[in-house]
Amino acid sequence: MQQYIDAHCHILTDAEMQNAAAHGVGRFIVNATAPTDWAAVVELAVRENVYGAIGVHPWHVTELSNDWYVVLGDMLMSYPDLMVGEIGLDKNRPNIELQESVFRRGLQIAHDMHRVAHIHCVGAWGKTMDILRGGKLPPAMVFHAFSGAADLVPELVKMGAYFSFGAEICNEKHIRARRVVALVPESRLLVESDTASPAIIPDVVAQIAHMRGVVASAMAETIYNNTMGLLNGRQI
Ligand SMILES: [Zn+2]
Repeated sequence: MQQYIDAHCHILTDAEMQNAAAHGVGRFIVNATAPTDWAAVVELAVRENVYGAIGVHPWHVTELSNDWYVVLGDMLMSYPDLMVGEIGLDKNRPNIELQESVFRRGLQIAHDMHRVAHIHCVGAWGKTMDILRGGKLPPAMVFHAFSGAADLVPELVKMGAYFSFGAEICNEKHIRARRVVALVPESRLLVESDTASPAIIPDVVAQIAHMRGVVASAMAETIYNNTMGLLNGRQI
């Protein structure tokens, strides 16, 4: 059976993982959203097929203690395979200034500790690009559910970006994402379920293959290898 990796999901139950595995989706990058779920992500990430990322999602920036980033740094130090995520900016949510300072801190820690960062950006591309251009960057970044404009792609690639796409590209309303998915360099393509069932991943890959005019099994293999390469630090 064709094998797939979910490049961006959240905490899954055993039943959800088993269901995904029945569809060939046997590896998962599990992202945290707030300090309250970091321990659960660490616990899942001890499994051979689970890769963990801990960070603060922009929807959860008001839930932080003053020393949250010290705890984040300590946990990353204790678990050298952990990545940083998910972090980022969301214009549709309040506290954009607080979001920005938490995002900057997360990026800085990912840079300092040499970890891949998993990034959420909704409607805040101007600010995100300013932050990335002006700061020290992590060794690689995964932009999950990528929704930026096509003309940002070359600059982001130079910065070490990967672009992850999910069920949205199967929806004709998502015109920009559907256009961009055909333009992203093949070596930087990833796929994800985010909050949907990871069992959707083969359909997402088939849709991407269709839009790029390639055979689905070849696309699946390329994306699998991209994701394993990222996880094994080949690009870093
Ligand atoms: Zn997410």
